[in-house]
Amino acid sequence: MENRHYATLAVHAGLPDDPHGAIGVPIYATAAFGFASLDEGAERFRTGQGYTYSRIHNPTVAALEERLRALEGADRAIAFASGQAATAAALLALLRAGDELVAGRGLFGQTLGLFHQVFAPLGIRVHLVPPEREAVAAALSARTRAIFVETLANPALELPDFEGLAEVAEAHRVPLVVDNTFGAVGAVVRPLELGAHVVVESLTKWASGHGTVLGGAVLVRRADLWRDVPALREAGAGGRASGDVSGEEAYAARVRQLGLSLLGMTLSPYHAHTLFYGLETLWLRIERASRTAAELAVYLRTLPGVRAVRYPGLPDDPAHGRARRYMRTFGTMLTVDVEGGLEGARAVLRRCPLKMAANLGDARTIVVHPWTTTHSRLPEEERLRAGVTPGLLRFSVGLEDPDDLKAALYGCFTAAGGR
Ligand SMILES: *Cc1c(COP(=O)(O)O)cnc(C)c1O
Repeated sequence: MENRHYATLAVHAGLPDDPHGAIGVPIYATAAFGFASLDEGAERFRTGQGYTYSRIHNPTVAALEERLRALEGADRAIAFASGQAATAAALLALLRAGDELVAGRGLFGQTLGLFHQVFAPLGIRVHLVPPEREAVAAALSARTRAIFVETLANPALELPDFEGLAEVAEAHRVPLVVDNTFGAVGAVVRPLELGAHVVVESLTKWASGHGTVLGGAVLVRRADLWRDVPALREAGAGGRASGDVSGEEAYAARVRQLGLSLLGMTLSPYHAHTLFYGLETLWLRIERASRTAAELAVYLRTLPGVRAVRYPGLPDDPAHGRARRYMRTFGTMLTVDVEGGLEGARAVLRRCPLKMAANLGDARTIVVHPWTTTHSRLPEEERLRAGVTPGLLRFSVGLEDPDDLKAALYGCFTAAGGR
């Protein structure tokens, strides 16, 4: 069978050729892999080919990496223990003291925390700007080593100008790195096809699909700009002389070396196994929940106390034009700005029977108040710049029946739901 379409790749890609004929992916619960001879051990360490130790690579994790690679349209994939680990490794592999990063201003709260609390003390400067071509181009300098943006920036649901940013990145010879968590492993958006060079993502969300395990990944596309990336020009990138390998391979090897071998942010084979099977139903879940989200976005606008609804599928949404070009479905995330700010949000949530948690991409519909949770550690101005207002509620739409969700939302927004 020709594995070209997402739904087909999701259930076929990455299945190993098992010596016993297992049709599933076995869990290799082993810390180390033995060598038959001194020479074989030496060869594995020299080339990085063949397994040695599960902090660095493992066949179950490799099966997941191959599936992710196919689904995002990447050339290389490295799995991590969490999305946060993936972001840190992808960027630390490019940056050192004195370097600069230009990043979209609306980002996941902990990504901003990583910039302020880890990168700043290491002497790495981050410029936060709107994820638009002119703003990003104006912020670039000779010390810029990467551009970083988020698909449907969390939580304001802003879509970057991927193609414009990719052109700026190519012209400046720095990689465009995209946090594609909201792109749902390529089911919703595939930034690598739009010119991005690296995707980082949390697998905790839609890949897991059931809110059960954490995971993350870095995906890398072949491109000739890798030749010009200073961090890869030195010998020793990824533990090998950089002349031995192609550019994207050198970068992927460096990400694996830094993030897994040295920092140990390794995904367990048990969790890799869960994520591997989560991916098999991802497409079905996304299709269904996206349809429900579109219905709810329209319905929410009819409810009292709703100041604004953001959903990329709404024809008058500011992101709709780009969404039509970039998104394969309009996704399962929507936000509601509630009248009355913080107190308004509190009143709605008091009446709300939906699960309240700082997660998304779950089978259940989940609501969160970003101002007091995911983004609460950021200064007020930075929250507002990221589109987080005191009255904002973020919904991750799940697999429930749409009519039941409407009834629940009616209760949240009217006194009829009073508790
Ligand atoms: C959740 C999330 C992350 C971090 O992922 P973890 O798996 O929780 O570490 C990063 N970026 C975005 C956009 C997220 O939603």
